[in-house]
Amino acid sequence: MFKGVLIDKNAAGYQATLAELGEEQLPAGEVTVAIDYSTMNYKDGLAITGQSPVVRSFPMVPGVDLSGSVTHSVHPEFHPGDRVVLNGWGVGEMHWGGLAQKGRFKGDWLLHLPETLTTREAMIIGTAGYTAMLAVIALEQHGLTPDRGEVVVTGAAGGVGSVAILLLAKLGYTIAAVTGRPEERDYLTALGAKVIIDRKELAAPGKPLGRERWAGAIDAVGGHVLANVCAAMRHRGVVAACGLAGGMAFPATVAPFILRGVTLVGIDSVLCPRAERAEAWRRLAADLNTATLAGIAREIGLAETIALAPRLLAGQVRGRTVVDVNR
Ligand code: NDP
Repeated sequence: MFKGVLIDKNAAGYQATLAELGEEQLPAGEVTVAIDYSTMNYKDGLAITGQSPVVRSFPMVPGVDLSGSVTHSVHPEFHPGDRVVLNGWGVGEMHWGGLAQKGRFKGDWLLHLPETLTTREAMIIGTAGYTAMLAVIALEQHGLTPDRGEVVVTGAAGGVGSVAILLLAKLGYTIAAVTGRPEERDYLTALGAKVIIDRKELAAPGKPLGRERWAGAIDAVGGHVLANVCAAMRHRGVVAACGLAGGMAFPATVAPFILRGVTLVGIDSVLCPRAERAEAWRRLAADLNTATLAGIAREIGLAETIALAPRLLAGQVRGRTVVDVNR
């Protein structure tokens, strides 16, 4: 038997509980993993609370992320003892995920963990950090370099935002952080942000084009914030859109794109091809300072994930929450 968070939807309603599960209940797959750590991402908050229809089949073990060691494998690339990481691929939504002590997965969903990262560090990074890395790579592919000007990060005190700031700072960028929590100024400055902007400044409907402020942007928020960021990009600026913490809408005009040649790049971590994931994890291992990484993390046990979910969705959780599934 092993422990896992189990979401069920039945006559009693939508419920997440900590359950005792049997190995025979694990879904089909080529590789069985003894999970060390998982995380709490925004999407896990949506799944556990049922606030959005993230879970597509029941009962479901949530958790879009996991790291651990292979215990059994019929996949040629993975062997018992291999340290692995998994992000996305519908895990925790359609296939049992990482908020459990064991899991069984398709081998093609797994990556070997870079040698320099521990399984705990991999989950401090998690999907939020891997998405931040995909966003940084997208900005680079569209020509952004530190000398082009300031880069703005929205949802800055959240998971994607915190790792994005750490990465950009390490790469030499000047960073403006947009936050709804001005009390996190010291935290954001310690991560590497030079300028702190109150979210209120960007949260209301704005003009089609504003003063040219930023050369690059990583947006975890959407809505008016994303529209106003696009309107304030410098000529040939690049915006990576990866989140909707402030809403799904995009109430913008085409002005920044056709008058300033701004590029809006979409970031999708869930179905991102394997080679791009491997490159993102290689870069995370190379570009992140693991000592500073510890400063954005707090750790909880499996049982605490259920109470944390609504607080995460309310924007009350700072940085990254790593889950020790064996505690
Ligand atoms: P977190 O909950 O850790 O952070 C979200 C941050 O957004 C909060 O900390 C807060 O930052 C800000 N925020 C929260 N509510 C609002 C609001 N109503 N209006 C404006 N800003 C708000 O989530 P993650 O960092 O894990 O994820 C961020 C977003 O990215 C989510 O929408 C998530 O679904 C998405 N995502 C997308 C991925 C992809 O593949 N495209 C992968 C991973 C995440 P602050 O307090 O600093 O303002």
